[in-house]
Amino acid sequence: MPSAVIESLESIIVDLPTIRPHKLAMHTMQNQTLVIIRLRCSDGIEGIGESTTIGGLAYGNESPESIKQNIDSHLAPALIGLEAGNINAAMQKLDKIAKGNTFAKSGIESALLDAQGKRLGLPVSELLGGRVRDSLEVAWTLASGDTARDIAEAEHMLEIRRHRIFKLKIGANPLEQDLKHVVAIKKALGDHASVRVDVNQYWDESQAIRGCQVLGENGIDLIEQPISRINRGGQIRLNQRSPAPIMADESIESVEDAFSLAADGAASVFALKIAKNGGPRAVLRTAQIAEAAGIALYGGTMLEGAVGTLASAHAFVTLNRLTWHTELFGPLLLTEEIVTEAPVYRDFQLHVPRTPGLGLTLDEERLARFRRH
Ligand SMILES: [Mg+2]
Repeated sequence: MPSAVIESLESIIVDLPTIRPHKLAMHTMQNQTLVIIRLRCSDGIEGIGESTTIGGLAYGNESPESIKQNIDSHLAPALIGLEAGNINAAMQKLDKIAKGNTFAKSGIESALLDAQGKRLGLPVSELLGGRVRDSLEVAWTLASGDTARDIAEAEHMLEIRRHRIFKLKIGANPLEQDLKHVVAIKKALGDHASVRVDVNQYWDESQAIRGCQVLGENGIDLIEQPISRINRGGQIRLNQRSPAPIMADESIESVEDAFSLAADGAASVFALKIAKNGGPRAVLRTAQIAEAAGIALYGGTMLEGAVGTLASAHAFVTLNRLTWHTELFGPLLLTEEIVTEAPVYRDFQLHVPRTPGLGLTLDEERLARFRRH
């Protein structure tokens, strides 16, 4: 039987409304823009993937529009006619013709895995070597910007058993105001919840020295990316003196970044993001570097919808240890879905389907309604 080849690869920009404005240090999200990848193969099998980023160009080097343009003009044409089931060969070709572009590559690698899983009747987690758990604990981001409102939201999440890990986005306000906000929320929630912060690189080292000290002394469990990814010396010094563990997020833009951070001792926790490494298989290479270096792991998100979230989840359920759990809550931030069955969140966990591929089907009617024309 001749093996299936890749016939076409389409990228679709989708604009979806969010439940509330989502305040990050660099950007306030009013909606989320997804880039959905559809890969069609000669055996009639279709794979889906997602290449989503946050806030246009506010977060990183790739925007939804640049992701789509680069896929349409460069990446998709390079894949046509290649064997659909040979993911190594396809991704090596993309790495050869395109530097970086990890968001675009992640969506494509996800779509190749989804198609191959459907072809073989296996979930993507099994293509990645096999899952060691069926569900993942999921943190929630409190990002209203208002202390009382954030506390009320956290208490509601605890009561309905959806989240007991809360991440606060800080850095945009004066340091003392941010610290007061975080400490008040931790005091209100007490031992019922883990409270963490993400500074998104907004502090300089002098602010971070005080910020990390105060947060660590007040029971904050984890401090994500306090200073710029460019300031490697500062990251190393903070990692040595902060009473709370430091997690690298923006500092990792590739598997090679992960190696160099580990070699320098610049963080004790890594945020794993498929979009920043180039796909579910690529992110596991970063996880292996971390494991070898004794660095703890956290399953991160670019606030993807259902497709990107489950592509991440299928990789994360294969990991030996996920000490800091995950933040795969992207679908919960959206008020509309473009898949027929939304991912299942129950008892603080995201439950990862055991059906072939990613375990999702696009809802054509809804996709047509929300796609950008
Ligand atoms: Mg982050």
